[in-house]
Amino acid sequence: MGNDRVRVAIVGGGIGGLAAANALARRDVEVTVYEQAAELGEVGAGVLITPNSVRQLDRMGLGDVMTRLGGRIGDGSRYCRPDGATVGPIRTSDTAGVHGVYGMHRADLLGALAEGLPSGVVRTGHRCTGFEQNEDGALLRFGDGETAEADVVVAADGIHSVLQSHVVDPAAPVYSGHVAYRGLIASRLVPEWPRDAHLVWMGQQQHFMVYPVRGGELLNYVGFLPSAEVAEETWSGKGDPDALRAAFAGWDPLVERLLARVETTYWWGLYDREPLTAWTNGRLTLLGDAAHPMLPHLGQGANQAIEDGVALAVLLAGKSRRDVRGALRSYEEFRRPRTAKVQEGARANGRRYDSQYEDLRQRDAEIASSGELRAWLYDHDVELRAGEFASA
Ligand SMILES: Cc1cc2nc3c(=O)[nH]c(=O)nc-3n(C[C@H](O)[C@H](O)[C@H](O)COP(=O)(O)OP(=O)(O)OC[C@H]3O[C@@H](n4cnc5c(N)ncnc54)[C@H](O)[C@@H]3O)c2cc1C
Repeated sequence: MGNDRVRVAIVGGGIGGLAAANALARRDVEVTVYEQAAELGEVGAGVLITPNSVRQLDRMGLGDVMTRLGGRIGDGSRYCRPDGATVGPIRTSDTAGVHGVYGMHRADLLGALAEGLPSGVVRTGHRCTGFEQNEDGALLRFGDGETAEADVVVAADGIHSVLQSHVVDPAAPVYSGHVAYRGLIASRLVPEWPRDAHLVWMGQQQHFMVYPVRGGELLNYVGFLPSAEVAEETWSGKGDPDALRAAFAGWDPLVERLLARVETTYWWGLYDREPLTAWTNGRLTLLGDAAHPMLPHLGQGANQAIEDGVALAVLLAGKSRRDVRGALRSYEEFRRPRTAKVQEGARANGRRYDSQYEDLRQRDAEIASSGELRAWLYDHDVELRAGEFASA
C-alpha cells in the first residue's frame, strides 16, 4: 500500500488551498501546496467564519484559533435601514446553538491554517504556468522552469485561476456593477461601538456593514457602492476615504462616526461567475474561488472553500492511485449543487441589501425570515454528508 499512496498537489495557498491541505494531511494523504507569492499573506481585512466551517476548523484542531483570535459575533447583531431602524436580527449560530459566527482577521486565519500543516508542505515562490496529465499521473510546470509530479492536482488559485481553462472554456468573470471599500480600525477610536455586534445598514443601491475581529480589538467595515468604472486590470487598490464618507453621509450617526476615523481604505471590484458546467478533468479539479467565485453578500466564499477542502479530503482518503479520478468526480458531483445555490443566493441577498425592490415590505419580510437560509448554510456538516455521499 506504501507505494500506492496518493500524492496531491494544491496550486494556491489562500484560505481554500490551506484548508484543503489541513483536511488532507489530517487524513494522512500526501499533500504539497504551491503558492506563487514569496510569502503567504492575506489582505488587511476581516472575514466572517460561519458555523458550517467553524465546525470543520474545530475538528482540524483549530477551534481555539477562532476563540483566541476571532471576535465572537453576538446576539445584538441586526439588519437596519440607513437611519439605524431595525429590520430584523442576524442569525449568529447554528440551529443547535453549538457553533457560532466569528469575525477573523484574514492574516490570522491564514497563519493558523499554515501552522496547522507539517513543515515543508507549503512551497512559496511557485507560480504555476502549465499542467499536463496522462494515464500515469499529472505534471505541473512553474514560472522558474521547475516541475512537480502528482496523482491529483487541486486548482485553488482563486477567481483568476490559470488552471480553470484546463477544465472549462475560458470566460471572463461577471462584474456586479458594485465595488466594496473595506478596512480595519481600532475599536478604541469609536468607544461607543457595540463590541460584538455584526450590523448591516441597507440603503438604495448601497449598503454598509461592520463586525469585530481579534476579540473586538479591531472593527472590520465594508461599504458597498455602485460603480460603472471598474476596469478589469485594476480590480483592487487603495480607495479614497473622503469618497467613502461622502457616499454614506446622512446615514446612522454611528456609521458617520466610524467613517470619520477612517484614514486608509481599500476597494475591490465585485465579480462572480455563473456556476461552471464542470469542475474536473481527469486528475485535475477546482476548489474555492477557482470553482465557484461568488459575491460576498452571504459571507460564504471562504466558508464554502473550507467546505470544499473537507469534502475533497473525505472522498480521497484511503483511495488508491487508480481510484483518484472517480473520487474527483464524486467530489464535483457532491459539491457543485450546493455551491451553485450559494452563488445564486449571494446575488439575491445583494439585491436585498441594496434595496433593489419595488416594495421594501417584501424585502423586509425576506430579511426577517433569512434565518431559514442561514440555518441551511450553517447546519450543513460537510464531513458527515460527504461520508454519507461516498457510501450511498
Ligand atoms: C469584500 C469581500 C468580502 C468578503 N467577505 C467574506 C466573508 O465574510 N466570508 C467568506 O467566507 N468569504 C468572504 N469573501 C470571499 C473570500 O474572500 C474568498 O471567497 C476566498 O478568499 C477565496 O479563497 P481561495 O483560497 O479560493 O482563493 P484566494 O484567496 O484568491 O487564493 C488564491 C491563492 O492562489 C494563489 N495563486 C493564484 N494563481 C497562482 C498560480 N498560478 N500559481 C500559484 N499560486 C497561485 C494566490 O496568490 C492566492 O494565494 C469576501 C470577498 C470580498 C471581495
